[in-house]
Amino acid sequence: MQDLTATRVSIPGVIGPYDAYVHLGDQWNGFARPLFALDTVREIAAHTQILADEGGCNSVVTAHVIDGDPDSEGMPRAVVLTVNWQFWDQDGGASKVTTVAESTAEGLYPVGGSSWTWEIETWTCACQESNPWHLAVCHCGQPRDRQPAVPLEAATWTAGATLRRLAPGTTAALVELLDGHARIVGVFAGETEIDTADDTGPFDCETLGEADEILRLATDEAAPGDLDAAGWVPVETEHAGRLFRVTFPAGEHGRYPLDYMPRPIPAPRSSQKPPGVPIQRAV
Ligand SMILES: [Zn+2]
Repeated sequence: MQDLTATRVSIPGVIGPYDAYVHLGDQWNGFARPLFALDTVREIAAHTQILADEGGCNSVVTAHVIDGDPDSEGMPRAVVLTVNWQFWDQDGGASKVTTVAESTAEGLYPVGGSSWTWEIETWTCACQESNPWHLAVCHCGQPRDRQPAVPLEAATWTAGATLRRLAPGTTAALVELLDGHARIVGVFAGETEIDTADDTGPFDCETLGEADEILRLATDEAAPGDLDAAGWVPVETEHAGRLFRVTFPAGEHGRYPLDYMPRPIPAPRSSQKPPGVPIQRAV
């Protein structure tokens, strides 16, 4: 069986996001068929029941967790149900509108797969690229968990991505700030300076001008301290404080291959013991 991938899912505007596991590519009518740890199922159950309290049972399919005693190996036993109240009259009562979600061998529960419109969450990188949640590093090289501290840092990355369109090995630039106007005066691949002349180097005036403009707009808006926060390192010159070395995001030649995916994370089996009551009502 295909490995599980840890991600996040939601029903946009209704519930979520929740931590979930999916088999990538396993879909129902274009929607995800996620699996959840029991503790996450409890969150989903609580949320659906709040929605039912607010809008009436017919407005939402409710989820429920009924806890039993631990099994002979001490693992928690629980019954996970979903109830589609709106079809009670039409379909003929409780057993017809109730679905039991059997846990998988990993101790995960399929709640709402093949009927709920679960969607995999996305995150938007500073480079404007929208990525599925489980793609932990954007194609531009930026990790999801290490996004820009200030707008100038985001602009710096965008300028870097702009330069890499023509020189994929670009790692850094020398930027001059003169009367508040940013201008790229040198581009580097590691320690090697890249020829920025229009006729002999990889760049053209339009691309360098585009990168200049991205930095100019961002420095116009920058607050004191933003240069430092964005990683702009002053270079010692006779015009101290006006020349900066800015480093663009790391990555293999500045970019990850387009099919880069994080390694799947094995799903943990919940070892949390259930509450010490022999019979607990559905929450
Ligand atoms: Zn990006």
